Amino acid sequence: MKPVSEREAQEAVTTLLRFIGEDPSREGLRETPLRVVRSFQELFGGYATNPESVFKTFRDGGEKVDEMVIQRNIPFFSNCEHHMLPFFGVAHVAYVPEDEIIGLSKLARLVDVFARRLQVQERMTNQIADALVKYLKPKGAACVIEATHLCMVQRGIKKHMSDTTTSALRGVFLEPATRAEFLRFTQQGPRVPIF
Ligand SMILES: [Zn+2]
Repeated sequence: MKPVSEREAQEAVTTLLRFIGEDPSREGLRETPLRVVRSFQELFGGYATNPESVFKTFRDGGEKVDEMVIQRNIPFFSNCEHHMLPFFGVAHVAYVPEDEIIGLSKLARLVDVFARRLQVQERMTNQIADALVKYLKPKGAACVIEATHLCMVQRGIKKHMSDTTTSALRGVFLEPATRAEFLRFTQQGPRVPIF
């Protein structure tokens, strides 16, 4: 695919402004195409990030841990690929190490790598679990995502309080005891409000 210049992207935003009935030349909108393109570069920065880069620095960790490592309530913001509207909430990410561990902050970065793309929640959940399996080679990996989709609450069927939960379980997390322990962790304690 031919790369799109920033200028072409700004022109596309100007076209959309006209499409919704706006006057792109009025003062408040004059800088809007530039700002939208800049914010897109940040919101969709995940395309330019190889998930492997999140793991690199911990390749030589060497610690021997064989208990479940779990990071709960990692906040994220993504955009659905069907409407290009935000969905957001929390991810719970866990793994059982084989012989390498990853810094806990890296789990949040991993979530961001996949959140900052056009997504469906189901794929994002799988991608996080699969990246852990691929790059960390743990005994197992798991991800649960709880999210609210603005395409559901702001438009269409307007289910204001609805949220969506997806899960991906790999390796030892498919065993009933490990799965139950993980899901119990994700459900206990204070919960981050999902609007
Ligand atoms: Zn949507």
